Amino acid sequence: MKIELIAVGNEVVYGYTVNTNASFMSSEFEKYGLEVCYHTAIRDRSEDICNALDVAKARADMIILCGGLGPTKDDLTKEVVAEYFGLELILCEEAYDEIKEFFRKLQKTMLDSNYKQALLPATASLIPNHNGTAPGCVFDHEGITVALFPGPPRELRPMFDYFIKNFVLKMLDTMCLTEEVRLLGIGESYIAVEIDDLLGVFADRRVEVAPYLGEGFVSIRIKGYGHSEDEILTNINYYKNQIVERLKTFVIGDTKKVAEELVYDLLSEKSFTITTAESCTGGMLASRLINVSGASNIINEAFVTYSNAAKIKTLGVTEETLNKYGAVSEEVAREMALGAQKLTGADVAISTTGIAGPTGGTIAKPVGLIYIGIALNNNISCFKVNLYGTRTEIRSLTTAYALQHLARLLQNF
Ligand code: ATP
Ligand code: MG
Repeated sequence: MKIELIAVGNEVVYGYTVNTNASFMSSEFEKYGLEVCYHTAIRDRSEDICNALDVAKARADMIILCGGLGPTKDDLTKEVVAEYFGLELILCEEAYDEIKEFFRKLQKTMLDSNYKQALLPATASLIPNHNGTAPGCVFDHEGITVALFPGPPRELRPMFDYFIKNFVLKMLDTMCLTEEVRLLGIGESYIAVEIDDLLGVFADRRVEVAPYLGEGFVSIRIKGYGHSEDEILTNINYYKNQIVERLKTFVIGDTKKVAEELVYDLLSEKSFTITTAESCTGGMLASRLINVSGASNIINEAFVTYSNAAKIKTLGVTEETLNKYGAVSEEVAREMALGAQKLTGADVAISTTGIAGPTGGTIAKPVGLIYIGIALNNNISCFKVNLYGTRTEIRSLTTAYALQHLARLLQNF
C-alpha cells in the first residue's frame, strides 16, 4: 500500500509550523509495516488542494490530509475534498452531539460556524475528536482511502490511533512486528563488520534487519511480516538470537523504554536510591530521572557543581586531585560520585565532568572528552567517552550515555 500525507496550512508551507504531524503519522504507519511514500505540504487554497489531490490520486492508495478543518473561513479542506470527489456534505449527528458536548463542558456557547464542522462527506465514517471541535473522517473512493484530520497535534494524535485500529488494521492481511537489540560501546561501522551477513532484507523469512543510531546507543531493528504473531516472532528470533550471541558483550537489552524509565525500573526493583553530581550536564541528568513519574521513590536530592570550588565545598573533591589531574579526569569523576554518595546516603551516585565546548578544549583534553563516574553500593567505576557535536548536543549525549552505562551496571548487579 502506498500512502501519501498532505499537510494543509499556510503556516506549514511558510515555515512557521514544523510538520510534526507528518513525522508522527509516518512513524506510526511504519510500526505496522506500512510505507509512507510521499510527504506533501500545501497552502490553504482550494486550487492547491485540488492539484495535490490530482497528484496523490495517481500515485497513492491512501491519502491522508491534515489541517484546515477548523470553523473559520480559511479552513476549507473538507469542503474542497468533498467537492473534488463529488460527495455532498451532510450532517453527522454523532459529530454534532460531540461538538455540543465539547462546548457544554467548556461552558461556552456554540457558534453557527461549529455546525459546519459537523458536516461530513456523504459516504464518510466519523473519526471522533475528543480534544477539539473538528471531527475527522475517512471514506473510500474507487479503491483509494481518503482520510481527513485536524491540524493541532494534540487532537490529531489520539484520532490517528483510532483510525489505525479501527480502519487501517482491518484492511491489512499481514501484520508486522519490530524487535530491537540495543548496544552500547560499539560503533555502527564495527557492527556492519561483525554481523554483515545478518543485516539486510531477508525475503524468505520476511524479515528486515537494520542498525540505527539511538540516543547514546546503537540499536539493531528487526522487523518481521507475517500472518500471525508466532510466525513473525519465530522469524525475528532467528536473527535476534544470532545477533545477541555474536555481540553479547555490547548488548544492553531489547527494551523500547527510554533510558530514564529503564533506570527507574532497575532502581525500583532493587529498592535503590540515586543522586547525581553534575558538572558539564548541569542538572540534565537529574532532570531526566525526575521526568519519570514516581521519581520521588528513587531520588531525593542532586547536585550541580560546576566550578572547582563547588566540587571541593559540596562534594569534598580534594584540591590535590583537582590540581594533579584537572577537573575533567577519571579521578575527579570518581571523587564527585563518592562524595555525593557519602553526603546523601544514596545507593547509587552518578557524576559527569567533561568539556562541552565550543571553547576550553586542548590537545590532551579535547572538546567532547567526558568522564562519567558511577558509585554503586561499594563499587566505583568510571567511563570515558569522546563525543562530537555542539555544546547542547554534547551535554545531552553525556546525559544519555550516563543513563545507558548506569542501566548496564544495574542489569548486571
Ligand atoms: P482549528 O483551526 O480548529 O484549530 P484545523 O484543523 O483548522 O483546526 P489548522 O488551523 O490547520 O487546524 O492548524 C491549527 C494548528 O495546528 C496550527 O497553528 C499548528 O500549530 C498546528 N498544525 C497544523 N498543521 C500541522 C502539522 N502538519 N504539523 C504540526 N502541527 C500542525
Ligand atoms: Mg488552518
